[in-house]
Amino acid sequence: MNSGQSAVSDGRILVRKPKGNADVAEDMGTKDVVILGSTGSVGTNTLAVVRAFRDQLRVLGLSAHSQARELARQVREFEPRVVGLTERSAHRALREELKGVDTKVLEGEEGLAQMARMPEADIVVSAIAGAAGLPAAVHALRAGHTLALANKEALVMAGPLVTKLASEHDAEILPVDSEHSAISQALRCGEPEDVHRIILTASGGPFYGEGYSKLPQATPGEALDHPNWDMGAKITIDSATMMNKGLEVIEARWLFDLTTEKIEVVIHPQSLVHSMVEFADGSIIAQMGAPDMKLPIQHALTHPRHCDGPAERLDLNDLDGLEFRKADPEEFPALQLAYRAARRGGTAGAVLNAADEVAVNAFLDGRIELPQILDCVRHVTSKHTEDSSEQLTLEIIRQADRWAREEARTWLE
Ligand code: MG
Repeated sequence: MNSGQSAVSDGRILVRKPKGNADVAEDMGTKDVVILGSTGSVGTNTLAVVRAFRDQLRVLGLSAHSQARELARQVREFEPRVVGLTERSAHRALREELKGVDTKVLEGEEGLAQMARMPEADIVVSAIAGAAGLPAAVHALRAGHTLALANKEALVMAGPLVTKLASEHDAEILPVDSEHSAISQALRCGEPEDVHRIILTASGGPFYGEGYSKLPQATPGEALDHPNWDMGAKITIDSATMMNKGLEVIEARWLFDLTTEKIEVVIHPQSLVHSMVEFADGSIIAQMGAPDMKLPIQHALTHPRHCDGPAERLDLNDLDGLEFRKADPEEFPALQLAYRAARRGGTAGAVLNAADEVAVNAFLDGRIELPQILDCVRHVTSKHTEDSSEQLTLEIIRQADRWAREEARTWLE
């Protein structure tokens, strides 16, 4: 029995005290961890968790896109065996920073793939932002590794392919997205056939209350000011348009193998209930906690244990109340677009994601207004007529991704 739980035995309730982290090492052993995207928001939070579990978690590999100096600092602290940057122009700076350090430097996409496949890895954390994370997820799963997945785009773009690889190679996918982590925890309370629906919570982002059918003409600075979560730029803009929740609907559809009728979204401005599962008998199991990414990250790394760690704790005495309001897809155009892509399957998710990435970058560069992000995505997805019955391959997904980026750029001009 796990520590800290109570159990009914002979009609008596036994309560056991938490045993502390020394015992976690006994249960978990030590795990060698590869962290892809280690200089981003989820990456640095992952390292904060590793720092708190130094006896249980060892860093085997670290990768980033272009931030050589920050990556080098991480290498000096965590002493991984390999390190890599995907942006080739930053390699020289990294080698310069790591002079005299005994860590092998891998380069480019191939280096990233090599790291994701490392036979010594017990768990691969993919915290890469955007479509760039898909190949690494595929490599990790093909190697049979447990994949702690923060890169939701891998499932949005290629859900059928990614989940098929996981089952073929007996590799587990542990969601790091807070909502999906919550759902996976809640699902353990019942049988899959008894799931009535899952309920994804959405904070509503910085413009909650202003109405989503008409997004405000906000500046990037205003849109980047999320009320509850501290995250990277792309995901924060996606939260402002509700596209992040849309992508999470698609992520949930593949991760939990549910039809879209069983996936609902509710607005919950406090971001304390991270998501819920309603079972057939009407019982709703919710997972709560402070809005701190270290919590779902740690849960993936110490799975299935819930150990004392560095995440903020929630004090129920500080709460002013919890609000929930149904998020009608009619009211939120981003949800409508995402539900449609989730129902359609095939390459529809890849197209939606690519159009959104291009449009969000254009907004961050000041080339378009916030509401135009969704106009661009709507335009590209409505032009996408390709048959989705075809067997998905990485190459088919890449083609759809390229096509959608081109269409989005044309629209932007
Ligand atoms: Mg999320």
